[in-house]
Amino acid sequence: MQLLKHLQRYSDIDFLVEPTRIIGKEAVMLVDPDQLILIDSKFPISTGKARILNGNVEKDLEDMWKRLDQKKVFNINDYNTLEDINSELDRYAANCKEGVTCEIEEFGNSVEGRPLRMLKITKPGPDRKVLVFDSTIHSREWLAPATLLKVLDLIHKQEENDAIELLNKYDFYFSIILNPDGYVYTWETERFWRKTRSINPNSICNGVDLDRNFDIKWGTVGASTNPCTDEFCGSAKASEPETKAIQDLSLRIGHKVLAWNTMHTAAQTILFAWSVLEDGVCKMADDHDDLSRVADAYADAIENTYGTVWRRGNSCLLTYPTSGTQNDYLRAQAGIKWVYTPGLRGPGFNPGSNAIEPSFREYWNGVKAMIKAIEDTKQ
Ligand SMILES: [Zn+2]
Repeated sequence: MQLLKHLQRYSDIDFLVEPTRIIGKEAVMLVDPDQLILIDSKFPISTGKARILNGNVEKDLEDMWKRLDQKKVFNINDYNTLEDINSELDRYAANCKEGVTCEIEEFGNSVEGRPLRMLKITKPGPDRKVLVFDSTIHSREWLAPATLLKVLDLIHKQEENDAIELLNKYDFYFSIILNPDGYVYTWETERFWRKTRSINPNSICNGVDLDRNFDIKWGTVGASTNPCTDEFCGSAKASEPETKAIQDLSLRIGHKVLAWNTMHTAAQTILFAWSVLEDGVCKMADDHDDLSRVADAYADAIENTYGTVWRRGNSCLLTYPTSGTQNDYLRAQAGIKWVYTPGLRGPGFNPGSNAIEPSFREYWNGVKAMIKAIEDTKQ
């Protein structure tokens, strides 16, 4: 574990699934032939300490790009470009069910000037609480926006009873792409790019890990000050326009938000506060039992859909300590109690389009169970 964390921080090996403290949970690395020799020397493949999951990622990617290059329009059952997602969001906003309001709010801009967008699907009524869902703060985690678009579609369509009942009670805000520059870069240049595309002074390496850049215990643990790593926390707390925009949004709407889900992929985990250490040990939330009970209902409902295994728990304990995270900021500064970071299924960061439907089915069951468990806690 120590050696893996060291490699993650100081080598240029790309970790697709980060090393965690979960016993038996594998880290996944994307390596070139030279790096494979290094890994084999540290974790001999012959002894089973490491194994080759996919000996030819390039071929998989070639096949995928061939398919996606032929796809000319938005397809909810496949991965979509930022441009196509934005057109589709416009279409959702323009075609709203009677009695429902669908409205796009642009709450900031990325460093390259792309708008940060949120589709709000609401109904009239006093003191309605909001459920917020966002994804793609890490641009390579494509299954998250693909899954979330299906949830959005279901709420927007208002055909299924569960979706009708939930919109009768709550407003839904969806921000599908929190890191648009990185997302465009994953389509145009480097499929496994995680960070933003900001230019770092005095470095040849671009990008900041937005999920280490928030103004909450920034830079204290589990973040890198090396701009060339995937966990680079930025030059200062909230140095990035995307971070500032998400912070400002959450401070503005926090009082009316019941729950906020910030979606990642390829972990099969439901994580909650806190991410940081306090006095050298993982900091536990005062309401840990509440968070844990709801996370159990949430993860159990997901597991019961297809029999997959989902870990749930304190983010620091279950994975490793990190700081400057969105989850911690939403809890500590925006005052939102029910903040969860689901890490959707894999495999890896490049699952085929056939992963989208099962990911959506299990996630949607989880969301419904999460809301029900929150309601039960409040009574
Ligand atoms: Zn992520």
